Amino acid sequence: MRTQEVVEGKAKILIPDPSQYTREGKFDPAWSPVFYNQRMVFNRDLSILVANKLRVKRAIDALAATGVRGIRYYLEAGVPEVVINDINPVAFELIKENVKRNSVKAEVHNRNANSLLNEVKGDLVDVDPFGSPVPFIMSSLSALRNKGLLALTATDTSALTGSSPSSCRRKYGAINQRLSFHREVGLRILISKVVSEAASVDLAAYPTLTYYTDYYYRAYFRVVKGAKRADELLKRLGYYVECNKCGYSEGRSYVDQITCPRCGNSIMRIAGPLWMGELWDQEVLEGLTSELNEFSYLPSSRRVHKLLTTLKQETPYQNFHYWKIDWLCSIRKWSIPKKEKVIQCVGRASATHLDSNGIRSDAEFEDILKCLTHTS
Ligand code: SAH
Repeated sequence: MRTQEVVEGKAKILIPDPSQYTREGKFDPAWSPVFYNQRMVFNRDLSILVANKLRVKRAIDALAATGVRGIRYYLEAGVPEVVINDINPVAFELIKENVKRNSVKAEVHNRNANSLLNEVKGDLVDVDPFGSPVPFIMSSLSALRNKGLLALTATDTSALTGSSPSSCRRKYGAINQRLSFHREVGLRILISKVVSEAASVDLAAYPTLTYYTDYYYRAYFRVVKGAKRADELLKRLGYYVECNKCGYSEGRSYVDQITCPRCGNSIMRIAGPLWMGELWDQEVLEGLTSELNEFSYLPSSRRVHKLLTTLKQETPYQNFHYWKIDWLCSIRKWSIPKKEKVIQCVGRASATHLDSNGIRSDAEFEDILKCLTHTS
């Protein structure tokens, strides 16, 4: 296999030479014998920041491909021990070479992640698969030491955002009738799944940092032992209902009626069970931001800064879903006002990283509607 070196952060990584796998002038990382995606640098940069902040002692990169993530944890996040694994034998050989090239102290495996995770222990388990992380949640939980960190990437956005409801039902056990704020629904369904699986083995999975970007979700959880703690988290699962006609929506702990309480005559769309609580830990967020100075070399440091800044603005309203203002206007045939003006008018509101046409707010629906007309 012809390889090529790429530099990412402080790592020098050999990847399969992309020029060998182009088709009609195009290249998709999935066509290469070992997966390496330039667009995921941002995802890895932020992982480095989190692992450094939470002082991880042993990280397990369970689906590692080239090994870039695990290697960067060691080189950049001060993680003294890393376990790097991939089921693909070609990836396994490449990981070994990359580990040597970067002088990393690593245990390298060529195993099915599920069987490996049932045997090893660490305080960070990183699951970064193609598609859904669901098949790896339970084994990841079993590999975590108490108070360890679970990090998941989910690229199965069609299931999570409700464009494929049957897939959401199968993978996440949730109803998902694609509400207007479906990016938020997806994030909260993913969290709900992890909280529920953790609860089934007496663990409490607290969302530490969760977000959506590009075409994927990323979620970090602090996992703590305790059936009572798990019970408390389960109380925060619920449902969203949304009226197709007037656009009203609300969170509920259970669904007891499907007609709209506001306009009365239309059937509401439903999504859930989903997580109704906080999406990130404010203290961790502050910590990551202050840490960013010493990480200014990160290839996507500006983008990381931008995301963290938006998340901080969203923090006061993180228990409230966002309102999709273009949709609310379109069902009324109103012209769409400038988002900044609506935020200003509503007062207690912010933009959201989830949707450029969304505003997050704890205001009453009627007040939001007033601001949509007053500012357009
Ligand atoms: N985390 C990598 C990208 C991983 S791509 C990065 O940041 O660059 C997903 C990888 O998972 C592929 O290399 C694939 O071979 C591997 N994989 C798929 N199923 C697996 C399984 N059951 N056990 C271990 N590895 C698996």
